[in-house]
Amino acid sequence: MFKGFSRFLQRPGERLKTLFGQSPASDAPVRQQIILSRDEHSVSRRNLSENALKVLYRLNGAGFEAYLVGGCIRDSLLERHPKDFDVATNATPDEVRQLFRNSRIIGRRFRIVHVRFGREVVEVTTFRGGHGEEQDVSQSQQSDDGLLLRDNVWGSVEEDAIRRDFTVNALYYSVADFSIYDWTGGLEDIEARVLRLIGDPETRYREDPVRMLRAARFAAKLDFTLAEETEAPIRELAPLLLQIPPARLFEEVLKLFLSGHAVQSFRVLREHGLYAMLFPESDEALAELPWAEALIEQALANTDDRLARERPVTPAFLFAALLWPCVQQRKTRLGHEQDLPDVPAQQAAAQQVITRQLQHTSIPKRFSMPMREIWDLQQQLPRRRGRRAFQTRENPRFRAAYDFLLLRESAGEIESGLGAWWTEFQDADEPRQQTLINEADGGHPAGTSGKPRRKRPRKRRRPANRPAPPTLDE
Ligand code: ATP
Ligand code: MG
Repeated sequence: MFKGFSRFLQRPGERLKTLFGQSPASDAPVRQQIILSRDEHSVSRRNLSENALKVLYRLNGAGFEAYLVGGCIRDSLLERHPKDFDVATNATPDEVRQLFRNSRIIGRRFRIVHVRFGREVVEVTTFRGGHGEEQDVSQSQQSDDGLLLRDNVWGSVEEDAIRRDFTVNALYYSVADFSIYDWTGGLEDIEARVLRLIGDPETRYREDPVRMLRAARFAAKLDFTLAEETEAPIRELAPLLLQIPPARLFEEVLKLFLSGHAVQSFRVLREHGLYAMLFPESDEALAELPWAEALIEQALANTDDRLARERPVTPAFLFAALLWPCVQQRKTRLGHEQDLPDVPAQQAAAQQVITRQLQHTSIPKRFSMPMREIWDLQQQLPRRRGRRAFQTRENPRFRAAYDFLLLRESAGEIESGLGAWWTEFQDADEPRQQTLINEADGGHPAGTSGKPRRKRPRKRRRPANRPAPPTLDE
């Protein structure tokens, strides 16, 4: 991590210098600048992306200030592998663009430059400054309730630091002197494993409610605790997330659940009333269906496990699991209210669930289609007569649907049996497959409830005046 940091914190006079009498954002706490020189921390060029370093050197070479900042420095200090590399500079987007042929400016609300090196993209942001009253609305814009609509006011590196979200995300590394710069107390918080929002938490959440999701995500990912004042306003402000465009929330959901710490993210989100803002209907179903929590947690645990083993994961399966309890709940309701048979009831339920979910998070068609197929196949899997099992086996979504079935069994939504049948069927030779189909047909193994019902012969009513036939033991 960083060598001897605690030691010099105890002797602040030696290395700390007060940078601001009053920090530029009036509500941000007054902090002291801390500089860790190259032999006082363990971030080494060897562990950083060569491409990101190239960007720093070129910017410096052209006379600009440039730093690595954010997750890459935080993660390096924690001895974790950084996911991506972000650069902050005093060069404007146009100036950056001119220095790198392989770059393009993206975003309107928040203009940044992507510098591409093959598959790696280094994100370069220009230092952001404060939002004074006199700012031009083309550069900076805030809604009546504090939401930041645009943020393209340039500033100094110190101003940039206090506009970032958490103190641990506001550590800057320079290749001019290989030092780490800290203006917000991030080093101290890394050491204490605390996630602390910079400035006044309520104002910062109102500016960008997604910061609440980021708080949950980093707490889960880093196993950090939320500072008391950072945590306190979340439950009350959580509904502000309803103002965020569904496409942005979809992206956040992927980061929360497809980065290897989904189970913990799910728990933290629920603990703070945030899950209900992303998946309101799933949240309701969780309260009502006894198996729903086990099903979702198991799905998320499997996702984490697959990522740990570097196996592919898909948002289709993730959303299939998160929304399945709602589909079942609606299906039951529709079955009762409209007397719909199983298959059309589930079709209608699925459609309704998706329509409602799209008001909160988008689900691009390329994921919602396979998600529906996974659901539909749940109704095919019990039907195995004739050629049906073979046809289902050939379906491109079979594997996902089979995994989903196992999940439902292990959560106790349905009784076990059908999953084991399919486990054996998949790998059996043809004669054995035929035997399995025959057994499934006659033997009614568990989970075959989806079979078409045979009508029982109706009992004939005995005319009232006729005596009952004698029974054998008479
Ligand atoms: P990771 O990439 O590991 O998920 P990160 O901290 O790098 O984590 P990014 O989304 O890549 O997160 O953002 C880079 C940096 O930009 C953050 O570390 C933070 O300093 C700043 N940042 C990102 N989003 C926000 C936000 N909504 N409000 C304020 N600052 C933000
Ligand atoms: Mg990052």
